[in-house]
Amino acid sequence: MHNRIAPGVTLIATSKRDNAFLVDGDDGFTLIDVGWAKAPQSLLTAVADLGRKPSDIRRIVLTHAHPDHVQGAAQLRDLTGAPILIHPADAPWLDAGRVPPEGRSGFVGRAIDRLPKLHWTPFTPDATVNDGELIQDSDGLRVVHTPGHSPGHIVLVHEPTRTVLLGDAVFNRGAIALGPAALAADPDLRRASLAKLPADLRTIGFAHGAPLTEGNADAFHEFLEALRAPA
Ligand SMILES: [Zn+2]
Ligand SMILES: [Zn+2]
Repeated sequence: MHNRIAPGVTLIATSKRDNAFLVDGDDGFTLIDVGWAKAPQSLLTAVADLGRKPSDIRRIVLTHAHPDHVQGAAQLRDLTGAPILIHPADAPWLDAGRVPPEGRSGFVGRAIDRLPKLHWTPFTPDATVNDGELIQDSDGLRVVHTPGHSPGHIVLVHEPTRTVLLGDAVFNRGAIALGPAALAADPDLRRASLAKLPADLRTIGFAHGAPLTEGNADAFHEFLEALRAPA
C-alpha cells in the first residue's frame, strides 16, 4: 500500500503498523526508514507499482536504530545497492544487532530488547548524517537531530513541501503523543528536541499512524503548542 502525501513524498505501509517514505530527487528516491525483516518485499512491490526499479532507491536514511525501522535494512541494501545513512549516535547499535540496555530508560524496554525477534543481523552503515545537513540537494531533505527516543534520532523536513517525517519522535496511534517513556533512551530530552522543529510544517508523516495532509496539520501544531506550555 502506498499513497502520495505531498508532491514528491510517498508513504509506504510496510506492515499494518509501520510506515516508510519515498522522497523524489533528481537521481531517484531517498527512502526514509525500512521496517521489519519483511519490509523490503513491501517496499519493492510499491516501487514496482510506481513503475520504477529497485535501483531507483538511491539511499536509505534511518531515523533511528530500532528493530521496527532497521531490521530489513541490510537486505534492502543488498537488493538495491543503496547506501545506508544514520546519525552517528545510533550507528553503533546497527553493528551491535540490537538496542543495548542503555538505549531504553525503562525496565519494560530493556526486557523486550532481549527477545531474539527484536534483534537483527549486525551491519555497518555507509555514512552518517548530522543536524542541519541536507541529505542531498535534489531531494530537499533537511536533518533535524531530535535525541530522546534514541540518542541519534533524526527527523527529516522536506523543505520544498514543508513536510516533516517524524520517525518515532511523535506517534499517531489513536492520538498524537510522545510514546511510551520506557521505550525511549532519555524521555526528558524529547520536548526540547521537538522545540527545534520549524513552525510552518504543512504535512506530517508518522512512522506509526496515519499522516496529516495539507490543511489537516492543526492537530499536530496544537500538540507542539501544548508541549511548550510549562508543566
Ligand atoms: Zn523507535
Ligand atoms: Zn518505531
